[in-house]
Amino acid sequence: MSPTEPALLEVTGLQKSFGDHEVLTSIDLSVSAGRVLALIGPSGSGKTTVLRCLNGLEVPDAGTVAFDSGPSVTFSASTTKREKDSLRSRSAMVFQGYNLFPHMTVLQNVIEGPVTVQKRPRQEAIAQAERLLERVGLSAKKDAYPHELSGGQQQRVGIVRALALEPSLLLFDEPTSALDPELVGDVLTVIKELAEEGWTMLLVTHELAFAREVADEVVFMDDGVVVERGHPDQVLRDPQQERTQRFVHRLL
Ligand code: ADP
Repeated sequence: MSPTEPALLEVTGLQKSFGDHEVLTSIDLSVSAGRVLALIGPSGSGKTTVLRCLNGLEVPDAGTVAFDSGPSVTFSASTTKREKDSLRSRSAMVFQGYNLFPHMTVLQNVIEGPVTVQKRPRQEAIAQAERLLERVGLSAKKDAYPHELSGGQQQRVGIVRALALEPSLLLFDEPTSALDPELVGDVLTVIKELAEEGWTMLLVTHELAFAREVADEVVFMDDGVVVERGHPDQVLRDPQQERTQRFVHRLL
């Protein structure tokens, strides 16, 4: 991030433990508007937990999360529910396992958040969902149920469902790791187009070549701490830290 770019998201000192297992030690991150940050690191290093803390699916034990507009939230035992909820609407998550509601059609899945949570008019939500489904090539599937779709199609619905919430920040949690290899490309293409359109994203991925192509910055995490961060070419091709070198050389 250049010093002149205002941060859309600024995270400082994020900590999270499950019981006596400290999963995030003290994470600092910032993402500028319109930029893509790729979060990489070994399994179990805490990447998903970072995303879940940002999206309100987990409550951090300590740390501050601030979005560009709106007050920052500092987590402690006395953080109110109202403060925690104020962050939730700023981001939307695309899950590794799609997490679509199995008993709802594609269209119902997409409009559920806008209509039920955001209380937007149903007709407006339907029109928006139809536009978004068209752009990912899934108009013909709007009345299908998730089990009638391929994994790649389900994940594109997962992406549309996140977009329909009109968040400031898109969170992707290893969006292609559950897919058969031949279906990965379609999903990565959609993510790349969104990045080119200027969406701000935090992307957890094992696809290092893709991270290099799409990200403005790469952050390498291991064991609950940020080990190294920088330009994708630098972190992925010429890492300075030994832990990063070992990880990158194993995967590239
Ligand atoms: P990553 O995404 O890098 O693979 P995670 O954030 O999923 O890592 O997990 C980090 C660590 O936190 C792991 O050891 C995992 O077992 C643990 N963990 C994650 N969620 C929970 C939970 N709800 N309860 C207990 N431990 C958890």
